[in-house]
Amino acid sequence: MTDLKSLTLPEMTAFLQSLGEPAFRGRQVFTWLHRGVTDFDGMTNLSKSLREKLKETSFITAPQVARKQVSRLDGTIKYLWELSDGNCIETVLMQYHHGNTVCISSQVGCRMGCAFCASTIAGKVRDLTPAEMLDQVLFTQKDSGLPVSNIVLMGIGEPLDNLDTVLKFLELVNHPDGMNIGMRHISLSTCGIVPGIRRLAELELQLTLSVSLHAPDSETRSKIMPINRAYDVEELFRACHDYFDKTGRRISFEYAMIDGVNDTPRHAALLGDRLEGTVAHVNLIPLNYVEESSLKPSPHVAAFQRQLEKRGIPATVRRRLGSDIDASCGQLRRKEMEERKKGAAES
Ligand code: SAH
Repeated sequence: MTDLKSLTLPEMTAFLQSLGEPAFRGRQVFTWLHRGVTDFDGMTNLSKSLREKLKETSFITAPQVARKQVSRLDGTIKYLWELSDGNCIETVLMQYHHGNTVCISSQVGCRMGCAFCASTIAGKVRDLTPAEMLDQVLFTQKDSGLPVSNIVLMGIGEPLDNLDTVLKFLELVNHPDGMNIGMRHISLSTCGIVPGIRRLAELELQLTLSVSLHAPDSETRSKIMPINRAYDVEELFRACHDYFDKTGRRISFEYAMIDGVNDTPRHAALLGDRLEGTVAHVNLIPLNYVEESSLKPSPHVAAFQRQLEKRGIPATVRRRLGSDIDASCGQLRRKEMEERKKGAAES
């Protein structure tokens, strides 16, 4: 069976031609799917016989809402979606002045092992498909009734560990016959998989690359991010530098402030040395509590920010949205998994 929504327009056209249909049917089916139609009988401009043929050869993905939490503070909505195989992933919808942003997942779980992150605690289960990534945008918009204008790939999973799928997703969501979301409205966040950054640079996409730095030196970074033992800070900054050279796009460095780990004046000075004179932006994130971890949020965020700004490095502190609903990713999925485990043990 063919996963129809994972097909790009040329692939869709070829698929319909393989069923003996004219090429223009490809665009018709593509358009229906990207409007969120979940049933072949809803594709009213197709003949009954073609709809039957499609039912026999293919399927349309449609995740179910397993849980939904709405923040009373700022309207942030968090979805836990159940996929067709029973796995769950999270999507967060945030309402900003500049438009509604969805934060989507790229994998079920994650294998990167960052010490502060809830998504990686139980490892990676599997990669998502292009359709499962697109569905998060489509169905969040459909369920909430809020039009999505921006996308950030900052949910569960490491996008550059599932790069082929991510590239296909970008082609789908960017397509004029689909959701038509511009590349400049999309951010991709990575823990620092250097070959992936280099591959992305070659494509010269206009999206925003966010690098989860979290420490300016390899000694500190390797303690909290195992990926640093494969690609250290030197190599990472070289790749970032080359990325900017190639794409002309300013990189955003994410920096989660952890008490006593990466938040001292020495760390700020080292980060300043790295970034002074480069075109970059630092996004300081107050660490979110993760139950399973002993790491604590730093009380020195404002001082750290001032130290960077004094050296001319733009640094902002991320506004916390949805703090009443565990809006940081990975936590809702973990709760659901634990409750299911308990339920299974009791029955
Ligand atoms: N794997 C990708 C994208 C998903 S994580 C990446 O590493 O960038 C999205 C962002 O949330 C990353 O910057 C990640 O380091 C950060 N993050 C994870 N756990 C966090 C926590 N407990 N508090 C604050 N930020 C966290």
